[in-house]
This record gives sequence, C-alpha cells and structure tokens, in this order.
Amino acid sequence: MTISRRDSRQLMVGNVPVGGGAPVSVQSMTTTKTADVDGTLAQVYALRGAGADIVRITCNDVEAAQGLAEIVPRSPVPIIADIHFQYRLALAALEAGVAGLRLNPGNIRNEDHIKTVARAASDAGVSIRVGVNAGSLDKDLLEEFGAPVPEALVRSALAEIRYLEDVGFHDIKISVKHSNVPLMVESYRLLAERIEYPLHLGVTEAGPPPGGLIKSVAGIATLLLEGIGDTIRFSLTADPVEEAKAGRQLLEYLGLRERTGLDLIACPSCGRAEVDVIQVAADATAALEAAKLPIQVAIMGCIVNGPGEAREADIGIAAGRGKGHLFIKGQVVRVVPEEEMVDALLDEAHKLLDEGVEARLAAADISAADLAYEERIELVELQGDANRSAERRAAVADIVSGDEG
Ligand code: SF4
Repeated sequence: MTISRRDSRQLMVGNVPVGGGAPVSVQSMTTTKTADVDGTLAQVYALRGAGADIVRITCNDVEAAQGLAEIVPRSPVPIIADIHFQYRLALAALEAGVAGLRLNPGNIRNEDHIKTVARAASDAGVSIRVGVNAGSLDKDLLEEFGAPVPEALVRSALAEIRYLEDVGFHDIKISVKHSNVPLMVESYRLLAERIEYPLHLGVTEAGPPPGGLIKSVAGIATLLLEGIGDTIRFSLTADPVEEAKAGRQLLEYLGLRERTGLDLIACPSCGRAEVDVIQVAADATAALEAAKLPIQVAIMGCIVNGPGEAREADIGIAAGRGKGHLFIKGQVVRVVPEEEMVDALLDEAHKLLDEGVEARLAAADISAADLAYEERIELVELQGDANRSAERRAAVADIVSGDEG
C-alpha cells in the first residue's frame, strides 16, 4: 500500500527538507540545560544515532543562547531553537546560527515582535514553526471557545501565520498539538484543509511509555496514513533517545522511511510453543540490534504454524522439539539445536544480507525441509491439530464432489 501524501510547500531546516514530498523527518528535543554545551551535544549525538533528523533545543535565557552558539557548529543535525515568551531570545538564537525557530503563539503575542523575528529569520534563511499547544493556548481564544477545541487551535495558528505572511515570510511549518488524541487528530485535519504549509505532528504531553507511546502512535499514525504530516515528534516522559527511536520505527513500519534497523515480528506464543518465545525474542532482539542489521526477522514458538505464518519475513526461526528451524522467506534452510537458535539466526542474517535470498536458498541444507515437515506432523499428532486441517480437507473435498454426506 502506498500512502498518498498531502501536497505541501517545502522548506529547509538546515540540510533537511520538510514538506513537498520530502521523506517524513523525525524530531526530538534535548532535556539537558542548553548552557551545558558538552552534555547537550552528547545528547544530540545520541538522538542522531537513534534516528533523529532534526533536534530542538530550548533557548530560555541568555546562557542558553550562548550555549547554542557553540552547539550549532558542532552538531551532526540541524538545530531548532525553542522559544517561549521572549522574542529577543529568538533573535539571539538566529545570531547563534540555528537552522530553525519554534515560536509558541500562546505566549509570544505582540505582533511587532513576531514580525521582527520573521524579518530576521528571513534574512538568515531560517524556517519557523508555529507551534500551537492546547496547554498554552492564547487566553482570548480560550475564553471565546471555552476549551482548547480544534477550531481554537487552528485559529491561533492562522493568526500567527498571517503576521508572518504580512512581512513576506513563508518558510513556515505548523503544529497544533493536543494531549487528547481524537482532538489532536481533528485539529490537524482541520488545519490541513486550510493551509498548504508543511505540518509537524505530535501528541503533546503524551506521558511515559507505554501509554505515551500508544497515544503518540495513535495520533501520529492515523494522520500519516491519511497522508497528513511532514515531520513528527513523540513527546514522551522518558529519555529522548526513546522518542527518536520510536519516531524512526513508526515511519519505517508505515513504509514512509527505508528500513535502517531491525523489524522483529514474533508470535504471541500459545500452548503449542516449544520454547520460551518471550526470552528467545528478547535474546534475538539484543543480538540483532547490536549487529545493526536492517532486516525483518520472525521468532515463532512452534514449527506447526511458524514458518507459514511468517513467510513474509526475510528470515526467521521456529521452535521444534528441542530444535530450531531456520527459515528464509518461509522455506526451512537449516535445523539447529535449540540452544544455538539465536546464534544461528544472527549468522544466517549476516549471510543473507551479504549474499542475498537466492544464494542462501541455494545453500540450504536439503534435508532441513523434510526434517521440519516430519517434526510438524509429529507435533500435530502429539498436540492435536488445532487447525483441524485433516477434517477440513475432507469437508472441502466433499463440497467439491457434491457429496453432502
Ligand atoms: S507460532 Fe506456534 S506457538 Fe506461536 S502462536 Fe502460533 S501456534 Fe502458538
């Protein structure tokens, strides 16, 4: 399935294009004090390693702005300065060389100040995000609407955009974040109909994982699947590395970015499982992530249904009676002792990436498929056929032959 993406203008955040068909980018934000230059840079590098394309850093006082002046030239990714209340800090951040600004219309409300920042950003070739947040909505709008409803968030964004456009500034992206997922989704849908600027998606104050992850995925993925959204941020109460990793993974799972890491699929386990699937999946994840292999791997608890159910995976392993059945694209290629399952999986994953599917299928142990078949029959006999395959085969044959019994 290909997602048909909404048309939007394109802008640049440093060397990262946003909107206009560019790959959806991942953002995150540092949690260090910006004045701590080395600590902040270490976190920026960690975020980059976890998948962030752009990193936002708070610019909340003069020491932070001075810190940015040292961080920006040493950063591996474009830096956006997060500005609240004091427009002069936006000017200072521009002087420090940031690639983008985030302004909150809820707390920088003076029209002249906003226009001054826009002119300076234009001179510096820097883009601005209008970052509306339900939690800090302009109090006039809050009074008018009684609550931070989608229409109020959109009105706040449109008013700020008008100020920027008044001075000929168009390198704008917008967010209308809400902590309530349905309201967040509705806000972005409304906004997407009314403007052509790129959109930055996020569920604000989503909280710690797993709840924060679930809320973020629910909101962001819903919109991305509708083609809405050009850059994303998970706002988790957690190490920001988790945000960047989750953002990147979501884009890969939706097919919006190329796979750079592991995609592990594993059966949920059931009474048929011949191994501790949870433990094997954890061991395999640790080994494959450490090896940084961009591959889809399946861990299946039994040979009865495993290889068939996971035939779309690049490679997988299904447990038999004391053995591991290694399969590539659903075809069993090797049978190894159970305790060697994870090592064999890692070894075969490396070979698969080096040599390709055809070569590895050609190198398969020819007795492996027969062994797997025999073991499958043995297990079905021992455990009973939960799928009632034999019974169903007979019933199907009866229907085709017209024998109604
Ligand atoms: S693969 Fe086997 S163990 Fe896993 S859920 Fe399916 S039947 Fe159960």
